[in-house]
Amino acid sequence: MSGKSIVIIGAGLSGTLLAIRLAQRGFKVQLHEKRADMRHVQMSAGRSINMALSDRGIKALKLIGMDEFMLNASIPMTGRMIHSPDGQTSLQPYSGRPGEYINSISRGGLNIGLLDKAESYENISLYFNSDCIDADTERGICRFRNTDGTISEVKADLFVGADGAGSALRNAFYKHSASLRFSFSQQFLTAGYKELHIPPGNEGGFLLEKNALHIWPRGRFMMIGLPNLDGSFTMTLFTDFDGENGFESLQAEDDVEKYFNKYFPDASALMPDLKKDFFMNPTGSLGTVKCWPWQYGGKFALLGDAAHAVVPFYGQGMNCSFEDCVVLDQLIDQYGDDWPSILPKYQDARKQNTDAIADLAVENFVEMRDLVADPVYIKKRQLETRLEFNYPDYFSKYSMVTFRADLPYSFAKEMGNKQNQLLMDICSTTSDISTLDTDAVMDQIRKLREDRQE
Ligand SMILES: Cc1cc2nc3c(=O)[nH]c(=O)nc-3n(C[C@H](O)[C@H](O)[C@H](O)COP(=O)(O)OP(=O)(O)OC[C@H]3O[C@@H](n4cnc5c(N)ncnc54)[C@H](O)[C@@H]3O)c2cc1C
Repeated sequence: MSGKSIVIIGAGLSGTLLAIRLAQRGFKVQLHEKRADMRHVQMSAGRSINMALSDRGIKALKLIGMDEFMLNASIPMTGRMIHSPDGQTSLQPYSGRPGEYINSISRGGLNIGLLDKAESYENISLYFNSDCIDADTERGICRFRNTDGTISEVKADLFVGADGAGSALRNAFYKHSASLRFSFSQQFLTAGYKELHIPPGNEGGFLLEKNALHIWPRGRFMMIGLPNLDGSFTMTLFTDFDGENGFESLQAEDDVEKYFNKYFPDASALMPDLKKDFFMNPTGSLGTVKCWPWQYGGKFALLGDAAHAVVPFYGQGMNCSFEDCVVLDQLIDQYGDDWPSILPKYQDARKQNTDAIADLAVENFVEMRDLVADPVYIKKRQLETRLEFNYPDYFSKYSMVTFRADLPYSFAKEMGNKQNQLLMDICSTTSDISTLDTDAVMDQIRKLREDRQE
C-alpha cells in the first residue's frame, strides 16, 4: 500500500498488535523492543500472570484474525465469586444475558502469540534489546541503545510510542513540553499490589471455581484471583502501602501468616508458598497517566499505556490499548497513509474515552474492595441481572464498558453512573426487589437516555 516506513517502539501488547495490522495493510514496520525476546528467556519464576480480555480487546484481535486463537487459550469468567471472611462464597454474574463474560488469558501467552504472528510477516522487522532512549521531534528521528551499548539514530515517516506507562517517547515530548505545550499528569493510588499464587490441585484440577473472577473484598483492601489453563490461580493482593493492614505492616513471615489467616483463611489454606511468594515478589505501584497532546507533527504518536495508563480495576488497560489500534485502523481506511491528517483525529477520538476509563477504573477499586459486599449493592446487582435477562435494551455500567465495544467509554461512564444512582436509590428503599415493577424501572432508565439525547 505504501512505501512509507513506520517504527513502533515497544513490542508489548498494543505495539505488536498494531505492527501486525499495519503489515497486513502493506506497510513496512520496524518493531523495537527494549527487552530480550520473551520467547527465548525464562518468564518470571515460570508463573503465569493473567489478565481479563473482553469485547473491545477481542474486536481488535478479530481485526488481525487472532480472536479465535486467543479465546481458545483463555478461560471464560462468568461472574465475580465473592469470598466473605467466614469462607462463604456467592457468585455475582457479570450479566443476565448469556454470552456476556470476560476471559482470563495469560499475559505472556498473549504477547508471545502476537510476536509469533508478527514474525510471520516479511514486512515486519523485529529488533530486541533495542532501547529507545530519546526522540528528536524537530529532526524526526529516534535514538536506540543496542545491546553492545552503541546508539543508532533511526528515521521513519511515522514513530509510534507503544512503550508502556514509562514511555521514552512520552518523556521526549515532556522534555520539549514548552514548545509542544505538552501536559502530563501521573496520579498514584495509596494502594499497591503483589502477585501471589494458588497451585493446581493434585491432578491438575482447579482448587476454586474455575469460571469466575474471585474477589475477597475487605473494605480498604482486597485480594483477587484469576484462573490459569494449568489449574492454578494468579492471586493479586491490593492494599495500601502504609498503615494498618498495609504492606508496611507485613514485614515478617509471622505478620503475613496472621494477616492471611485472619482475612483470607480459605485462600491461604490453598497457598503453600504464600510466605515465599510474598517476600520474593515485588510490590507494584498503581497509577493513572494522562497527557496531551498524543501526537507531534503528524510524525510521532503515543499508543496504549504510553498515552493513558490506567489502574487495573476495570480490567480494561489492555482492552483500551487494543481499541486505540482499532481507531487508528479505521482512520487509515479514510485517510490512507496521510499521518498528518490521521494523528490529530486519532488523539481527538480517543482522549475523552481514555480519560473516562481512567476515572471508571479508579471508581471501580472502591466497588471491588468494598461495595460488592454491601447489601444494597448486592440487591442492585440482582435487579440489574433481572433487567438484563428480561430487557434487551438494558445494559449495566459494567456491561457497557466491558461487552459493548460499539459504545464509547465516555458514554458508558455518563449513562452508567446515572443508572447506578437511580438503581441504588431504588434498592436502598426496597426491602424485596422481587416485588418491583421492572417495567416502571425500565421506563425511568429509558427516560435517562432520552434526556441525554435532547
Ligand atoms: C496488576 C495489573 C493487572 C492488569 N490487568 C489487566 C486486565 O485484566 N485487563 C486489561 O485489559 N488490562 C490489564 N492491565 C493493564 C495492561 O497490562 C496494560 O494496559 C497493557 O499492558 C498496555 O499495553 P501496552 O502495549 O500499551 O504496554 P505494555 O504491555 O507495557 O508494553 C510496553 C512494551 O514496551 C517496551 N518498552 C518500554 N520502554 C521501552 C523503550 N524505551 N524502548 C523500547 N521498548 C520499550 C516494554 O518492554 C514492553 O514490552 C493490568 C495491569 C496491571 C499492572
